[in-house]
Amino acid sequence: AKKAGRNNIRFFDPDMQAAVEQRSTMEVCLNHALAQQQFMLYYQPQVNNDGVIVGAEALLRWLHPVNGIINPADFIPIAEETGLIIPIGLWVLETACHQLKLWESDTAKTALHLAINVSSRQFQHPDFVEQVTTVIYKSGINPTQLKLELTESMVIGNINEIINKMQALKKLGVKFSMDDFGTGHSSLSSLKKLPLDQLKIDQSFVHDIASDHDSAIIVQTIIAMASNLGMDVIAEGVETEEQRNFLNEHHCLNFQGYLFGKPVPVDQFEQILKHNPDL
Ligand code: C2E
Ligand code: CA
Ligand code: CA
Ligand code: CA
Repeated sequence: AKKAGRNNIRFFDPDMQAAVEQRSTMEVCLNHALAQQQFMLYYQPQVNNDGVIVGAEALLRWLHPVNGIINPADFIPIAEETGLIIPIGLWVLETACHQLKLWESDTAKTALHLAINVSSRQFQHPDFVEQVTTVIYKSGINPTQLKLELTESMVIGNINEIINKMQALKKLGVKFSMDDFGTGHSSLSSLKKLPLDQLKIDQSFVHDIASDHDSAIIVQTIIAMASNLGMDVIAEGVETEEQRNFLNEHHCLNFQGYLFGKPVPVDQFEQILKHNPDL
């Protein structure tokens, strides 16, 4: 709000008003998008050391009838703010698990794992564990093939509560990966307490591996730390052979990035899998 005279705040700020209107318009649109099934999942391959696809990350897209494909960065923050991330997140989970179940009957896809992004608000919701459990049972998937990607921003508040939620799902076999690792503010001591299966090196470090000495050191440190803590490590945003070679030399053996494949709709992903050896 702008100052209008001494100690008086003028509550009507045209900029603020515009922002509020834009937000509520967006909220209406997102609700509509859910009801009209305008959301879609793209799948990006995750490969091993030999370049063989071992899994995928599900990435949300909004197919707007007028504006075309909208990326999650342009609507997830508003979905988080408005709470719509809860039903949207549930849709993502249901759709991804349904897909995983469909792949079960195909030898080239049976053993694939599927990573899903979980937003902070979604994870903090009291029904989170129950929702995931229900989706697992309803879909009939093998829970060990499901990987939930958390971010460091979730590691706030009561750490025991977070651990309990993770443990409850780990009992079913669900895996956990820490996304964007290295960009957050969580302390290493709290991270160490979490029952994580994987660290995912943020793409900003991967991007600068060859050009920036500090990034190279950070990446090496994350890889060493993951291995010392008994976790897997995967690098995201791998775009060049140079980056891949560096990672390889430093014993990061899982990759995701444009070098191996961009996120694509499910039919295209399945086409790509036709050239993949049976796992
Ligand atoms: P993220 O989880 O870190 O996902 C990786 C992002 O990097 C994706 O952007 C992906 O398309 C992009 N990417 C993958 N490989 C490369 C590469 O080699 N180079 C470059 N420059 N980029 C690459 P996308 O799909 O736009 O997603 C952005 C973010 O939106 C995600 O970041 C994630 O935080 C969020 N998001 C996506 N889907 C969901 C979802 O279903 N639920 C929630 N809560 N968040 C989601
Ligand atoms: Ca992710
Ligand atoms: Ca990431
Ligand atoms: Ca990211």
